[in-house]
Amino acid sequence: MQRYEEYARLLVEVGVNIQKGQNLIIDAPVDCAWFARLCAKAAYAAGCREVIMKWNDDALTREKFLRAEPDVFDTLPKWLAEFMNGYAGEGAAFLRISASDPENMAGVDPDRLTRAQRASGEALKPYREATMGSAIPWCIASIPIPSWAKKVFPGCGEEEAVEKLWAAILQAVRVGGGDAVERWRTHLDTLQRRMDTLNELNLESLHYKNSLGTDLTIRLPEGAVWAGGSTVTKSGVPYIANMPTEEIFTAPLRTGVDGVVYAAMPLVHNGVIMDKFHMVVREGKIVEVHAQIGEEALRAAVTLDEGASYFGEVALVPYDSPISNQKLLYYNTLFDENASCHLAFGEAYPECLKGGEDMTKEERQAHGLNTSITHVDFMVGTADLRITGRTRDGRDVDIFIDGNFAF
Ligand code: ZN
Ligand code: ZN
Repeated sequence: MQRYEEYARLLVEVGVNIQKGQNLIIDAPVDCAWFARLCAKAAYAAGCREVIMKWNDDALTREKFLRAEPDVFDTLPKWLAEFMNGYAGEGAAFLRISASDPENMAGVDPDRLTRAQRASGEALKPYREATMGSAIPWCIASIPIPSWAKKVFPGCGEEEAVEKLWAAILQAVRVGGGDAVERWRTHLDTLQRRMDTLNELNLESLHYKNSLGTDLTIRLPEGAVWAGGSTVTKSGVPYIANMPTEEIFTAPLRTGVDGVVYAAMPLVHNGVIMDKFHMVVREGKIVEVHAQIGEEALRAAVTLDEGASYFGEVALVPYDSPISNQKLLYYNTLFDENASCHLAFGEAYPECLKGGEDMTKEERQAHGLNTSITHVDFMVGTADLRITGRTRDGRDVDIFIDGNFAF
């Protein structure tokens, strides 16, 4: 129990970094209630005003998508929008325990998923702007549930699979074997050093190449900032949006991406698996998608709105990194994206542009940042990935050689 308590405390004190008198929303599957209780206890111990639960359940979500009346997927209930937007507006912290059967939505009409995502994307705009723009602290983390664990460790019985996934997750989030908070501090320092190096280079573009067939040029907007590790809210409180996190990321120039990019790992999005896919990109826009598995769902994802077919994130993760070295496929983006260089289509993070957090959406667009109601990471990093940077004063610099940082 002690390790779980330590993990819960880490999420509350370092993840969302709860402040005295602040409300905390915990979004968790009912299967994880025991862990949510540990998080709530840790939050109250740290001075939280009130913990408010938002429960979900894979089985009920699936039933709904299979059997509810069709019009259910076109609107988000008013009270739910009020709940999310209201708490975000007053500066609450949001902790999400992400644990789901990767194939929970297999066989569900993709049109229902798309419509529901569009409806919630529209209704929850204030909430999304508050999280993406660092107005409030938020953190996404995971604990195992049996259906997910069995997918990661198909050869094991349920109990053993859950145990193994726990061990892998705790290792990934640096819990066990010393003070977790201290270990996070060291880790954040390493990320900071790399961010500083990249920011000093003042890159104009990146060129990706590997043997899968990726051959992609990504231009960066003027004033692009590399971010990573912890983020600071507008009121000056540092928080960590994803635990684990191994990435350093920035935003591409909306119309500055050209070439072909191949996925290096399967992607689980909306409870559907997409695998062995590639995209053709012209002047920033994804003009073709091809997938051996889940092509329809992928096409739906990149056409959710206008911005969904443009890129919003460029993230660097060494091939030789703690999660990558576990050699596990988690079927959960939170972990898989931290094992591999990735890109995201959809919304860009305002913090990736100098002064971006104080700009309106229109101003960010004018500076070349993409906006959308979606943001989906997919993995592109391989052992032989080479990334060459071009600086604004015309020098070519090695960024990645053989899947790892060149510096
Ligand atoms: Zn990322
Ligand atoms: Zn992302």
